[in-house]
Amino acid sequence: MQVPYSDFHVMHDSIRDDLNAAYEKVMDSEWFIQGKQDTAFEEAFASFLGVRHCIGVGNGLDALRLILLALGIGRGDEVLVPANTFIASALAISYVGATPVLVDPDPETALITPEESEKHITSKTKAIMVVQLYGRVADMEGFQALAQAHHLALIEDAAQAHGAERSGRKAGSFGIAAGFSFYPGKNLGALGDGGAVVTDDDVLAQRVRALSNYGATVKYHHDELGVNSHLDELQAAFLSAKLPHLPAWTEERRRLGARYEKEITSGKLRLLRHDPGNVYHIFPVFCEDRDALQRYLEDQGIHTLIHYPIPIHLQKAYQSLGHRIGDFPAAESLAASELSIPLYPGMTEEAVDYVIAALNAF
Ligand SMILES: *Cc1c(COP(=O)(O)O)cnc(C)c1O
Repeated sequence: MQVPYSDFHVMHDSIRDDLNAAYEKVMDSEWFIQGKQDTAFEEAFASFLGVRHCIGVGNGLDALRLILLALGIGRGDEVLVPANTFIASALAISYVGATPVLVDPDPETALITPEESEKHITSKTKAIMVVQLYGRVADMEGFQALAQAHHLALIEDAAQAHGAERSGRKAGSFGIAAGFSFYPGKNLGALGDGGAVVTDDDVLAQRVRALSNYGATVKYHHDELGVNSHLDELQAAFLSAKLPHLPAWTEERRRLGARYEKEITSGKLRLLRHDPGNVYHIFPVFCEDRDALQRYLEDQGIHTLIHYPIPIHLQKAYQSLGHRIGDFPAAESLAASELSIPLYPGMTEEAVDYVIAALNAF
């Protein structure tokens, strides 16, 4: 049996007519950026999250970068960020000229904690970027208190956490602003690149919108050095067609995640602590013998990925931070033992049974 890591088939087949209609609508409108489709999706996504503003941008990296730019964070400033994240979280900080200050995660959740983060706060710290990794939500009440006590901006990288919840609130609604990605493989994915900034702050929203549009609020009147980053009309129309189905897709991910958490019983594998608000963007298992496990599964037709094999401080691009092996032991241990197993809406019960049986027999 072949089990792909992920599969769009069932998701896209169920809404194929809506996606085709979305394409026709944009084609017929002859309006391809900054139009009605973008506005409609921004309103729908803001309402889905329970926030006041959503600004569609080109991708998740731009979303994070624009938040930092709009907050005035730049050269000489430090921003706390997990050592175990996709490089975009750290890159956004570097792009505005600030320094990413890495925080080792809690091995039980793979998320950073307020306690560990506090140790890294200096007089130069301006913000904390919490990454809601794998679709899980960090201790946001704790982070809100920490940010308030030290006068820091609390930013969420919610690129993996569309619809994830904690205490009845959605990921992306806890800080001053959050960045989302609609990269095709994300839980809410476009048919290409896309991203969004969400915030409750009216002034920040206006600033992000201007900065994403060459720093102009009135055409050809540039108040600031902005960038060019939009959510294309076509992608916005596709996302609007998909958004109403996200709750059902999330339900399905949760059902599959619950099966894995209950039925993976091998003593050779470690799972993260259960999080009721998890949207299971990625389902990680941790194994001392990870590479052998990956080969073993591959031999049985089960395709897996590693998120992420190299922590930020050991990336060549971040040599300049001056870190060494051993500096972030939890991040290093997660990177050395993590394996992401198949989990996607439309995955058949037979496929789930097959993956569980293979894992337990390893
Ligand atoms: C996907 C992702 C991003 C970047 O999003 P893009 O749309 O690919 O630029 C940022 N942070 C995290 C944690 C991600 O998973």
